[in-house]
Amino acid sequence: MLKRVFQGISLLIFLLIILIAVVLFRTFSFGGSNNTAPVALPTVPAFSSVAISENVSAAIQIRTITLTAGDPRPGREGPWLELEDLLERTYPDFHATAEKMKVADYTLLYHWEGSDPSLDPILLMAHQDVVPVNIGTEGDWDAPPFSGEIVGDYLYGRGTIDDKTSLITIMEAAEALVDSGFQPTRSIWIMFGHDEEVSGSGARAGVEYFESQGIEMEMVLDEGFMVVDPFPITGTTVGMIGIAEKGYVTIEITSRAAGGHSSTPPRNSANIQLARALVALDETQMPSNLSEPPMSDMIAALAADMPFMTRMAFANQWLFGSMIEGQFSADGASNAMIRTTTAPTMISGSIKENVLPQNAVALVNFRIHPSDTMESVLAHVREVISGIDGVTADISQREGIGNEASPVSPIDSRAYQTLAAVAAAAGGDVPVVPALVLGATDARWTTGISENVYRFAPAVIAIGDLSGFHGTNERIAVDNLERMATGYAQIMTAMASE
Ligand SMILES: [Zn+2]
Repeated sequence: MLKRVFQGISLLIFLLIILIAVVLFRTFSFGGSNNTAPVALPTVPAFSSVAISENVSAAIQIRTITLTAGDPRPGREGPWLELEDLLERTYPDFHATAEKMKVADYTLLYHWEGSDPSLDPILLMAHQDVVPVNIGTEGDWDAPPFSGEIVGDYLYGRGTIDDKTSLITIMEAAEALVDSGFQPTRSIWIMFGHDEEVSGSGARAGVEYFESQGIEMEMVLDEGFMVVDPFPITGTTVGMIGIAEKGYVTIEITSRAAGGHSSTPPRNSANIQLARALVALDETQMPSNLSEPPMSDMIAALAADMPFMTRMAFANQWLFGSMIEGQFSADGASNAMIRTTTAPTMISGSIKENVLPQNAVALVNFRIHPSDTMESVLAHVREVISGIDGVTADISQREGIGNEASPVSPIDSRAYQTLAAVAAAAGGDVPVVPALVLGATDARWTTGISENVYRFAPAVIAIGDLSGFHGTNERIAVDNLERMATGYAQIMTAMASE
């Protein structure tokens, strides 16, 4: 009997040792590369942050604010024309070399023709417009939001992160390359959309132009990520390159009931049933996905830089998967990286306090992960609310029907490898990871003209400064200006010299 017990314990210990061995083996063989790219970066002209800061500041002072689709309204186009004029005056040599055209009235397209027309061009993008500053918050800024003032090491203003510094430093790079005698082999296109923050009609018109000309792009580069310091999972500086962006759909949930006087309410009025539906949707989130790109690629690229325990957990998701999922789900930003998010935003019921509603309606905004679709979101909602009487769900048409998540761009393309090398250099030899962009960019219109669509700017940004994005105290460290112009020049040179 005792012998059997000992045999049982030995077997347990044996199995435990095998388990530990498997966990450790998987941990040490996990990822293995920090993804530093093999691309050698070209030498490019030298840039001066001080000189560039004057041009960024001038662009910040031009109030190209968009509020609703269709902006700028007739008679309000002055700032866009002023910005176009600023570019023409500030970058005369590039304007003398490239062909400029306009689509959708104010979106600027530049074509710097390459010497070999058989090669697909590259497209660099930024947008001219900015979001407004909330009325009454101007005084909370350390410098007025449309002053373009430098305070300490930072240049302040609406558009410094999103997205005028990219716009200006792309032009700085192009002008300096023209002056240096650089001649692209592959054509370089530059597109500055005029209404990214409201509808993106300008970028869409640009893409339609490319499609009408049969032009496919070897690479599309737009805003999205930068080098972030520190990156939450590792606590170190990491370059992030967006290889996909989430989609967008709003589901309208309608709850119908008899209505009537509030002095004799039934137990399951329209509002109560609607509330049940919203609680059910909150409690049944859409499934997470850590096993497909971009998430799986991001985790593999980070492996070498993770603390041991974190690495062990990620390497053994068969064992620690639910723990990892729980940690990601606990924080709004990381939760948004791993699943389609559920956000009830608008609710309406009765129009009077003593009247029961016959229809109660909620709008629930979903940001679609690349592993889901608008259809799968709707199916999920209908499934979750199926047991609740009188409640139906449909895709809302109020702001258009939304859009699917983008395709996921590859990380073994020359374009990605080049961007990874630029990002690594911009951060000072840092690891670079592919990532999912949570908001929408103009890049989403371009996935029909290129397989290699990336979202990245060669700047280093402190995590704390991300709050300025569409918020108060939007600012960029002045030393980023040289870094960004250098990075864009490296990208143009490396991608367009073949
Ligand atoms: Zn933007």
